[in-house]
Amino acid sequence: MKQILLKIIFVGIIFIPISFIRAETTKNEKPIKILIVPGHDDKNWGTEFRGVREADMNLALATQIYDSLKKDKRFDVYITRDSQGYTKEFSDYFSLQKDNIMSFETDAKNKQEEEIKNGTFVKKINVRHASAKPEVVTMLYGVDKWANENKMDAVLHIHFNDYPRDDTTKVGKYKGFTVYVPEKQMVNSKESINFGKSIFKQLSRKYISSTYEKEKGGFVEDQSLIALGSKGTLIDSVRSVLVEYGYIYQKIFNTWPKRKVAYKNMADLTVTGIKNYFFANKK
Ligand SMILES: [Zn+2]
Repeated sequence: MKQILLKIIFVGIIFIPISFIRAETTKNEKPIKILIVPGHDDKNWGTEFRGVREADMNLALATQIYDSLKKDKRFDVYITRDSQGYTKEFSDYFSLQKDNIMSFETDAKNKQEEEIKNGTFVKKINVRHASAKPEVVTMLYGVDKWANENKMDAVLHIHFNDYPRDDTTKVGKYKGFTVYVPEKQMVNSKESINFGKSIFKQLSRKYISSTYEKEKGGFVEDQSLIALGSKGTLIDSVRSVLVEYGYIYQKIFNTWPKRKVAYKNMADLTVTGIKNYFFANKK
């Protein structure tokens, strides 16, 4: 009995201080919450080029970014879908919260209309994006609502680009990546822009930014994308950035081995951009 007691005391002496130290270091550093959103899904897969679907490319890249951030204890990282489709968290949320998401959507639209009418919000011309189906739109609103409620620090939307053109079986004329950020009037704009710049800086070390004149050198403020919190759908603490990593028909993506290299490089650069923003560039 005495021996056991001594053992407990001994173990206690060693372990209590360690747990104290742990508690001290984690108390001030709450993990950074990031939601990764691989754009589109298996039902509505975005653009497509010669049998390669954008949704699959988005998922491949998103998964690498997710896995890499997951290894770093300073992050608490989430993803909306995996190879099986939407994760349970999100498929449940979309179905159970459907009515709430729809009223969230209606409220946001009404509020924005009012703001435009009374002049507190000025509508600008945005780059034309393919319009999404109503069910897809509702899911995007759902992601914003979830990100607000779950206090995300950042949301990263991952896409590959295309533009309206006659023959989509042919290689198009533009190339390069674009980082989309919320326009200045939006409440989450300021830090989203800084967050986006950090990712842009890394990607431009290896890749050219968009040659499409409307994408203004690859860094674009936008007020129409729900992903970025259009119509006030993201609260000010939720940074949001949407990256179009390149045009789907570009040579760097035209074989599986090349895509594999691109995913790896793009994931590494994005993660560096994210870490630099949260840890290195803070004054
Ligand atoms: Zn897309």
